[in-house]
Amino acid sequence: MTSWPVLIAIAVAVFLVMEGVAWAAHKYIMHGWGWGWHESHHEPHEGLFEKNDLYAVVFAVFAIALFALGSLMDWPVVTAIASGITLYGFFYFIVHDGLVHQRWPFRHIPHKGYAKRLVQAHRLHHAVKGKDGAVSFGFLYAPPVEKLTAELKRSGRVAAEQDERRTLH
Ligand SMILES: [Zn+2]
Ligand SMILES: [Zn+2]
Repeated sequence: MTSWPVLIAIAVAVFLVMEGVAWAAHKYIMHGWGWGWHESHHEPHEGLFEKNDLYAVVFAVFAIALFALGSLMDWPVVTAIASGITLYGFFYFIVHDGLVHQRWPFRHIPHKGYAKRLVQAHRLHHAVKGKDGAVSFGFLYAPPVEKLTAELKRSGRVAAEQDERRTLH
């Protein structure tokens, strides 16, 4: 279980599973009982940080604890799992905080390809005001934009969506 190809495969598998974990956490926790922290991310604000960043801190602390455990106990599989989670966190930051919300010191908005689809899908997530009725909870995988728009139309939230397009922070 501890040869390099196996450890790398474990890290990659964890990375992929993390998209499912993040999707479920976003849909059922952050838009559920965890809305208290996540709400800050759905409201316009001025400051550099928002309460919602605490979720990233929780994931980071969890990954750091796994790294510590893996090295203290000499469990390479645990270190591989921690690496997969960290890799996901890195991509999450690039896509969500970077490409979508532009929380970095330069401006780069993708205008084509899959990156554009990810950005548009997450903007549609922000198109619905409040905790309920949002679409597109994933971060590194998003359904086609037309599908999401149709979903919003069906739920009668298109007006809110157009509103948001003008005021997107
Ligand atoms: Zn959300
Ligand atoms: Zn967002």
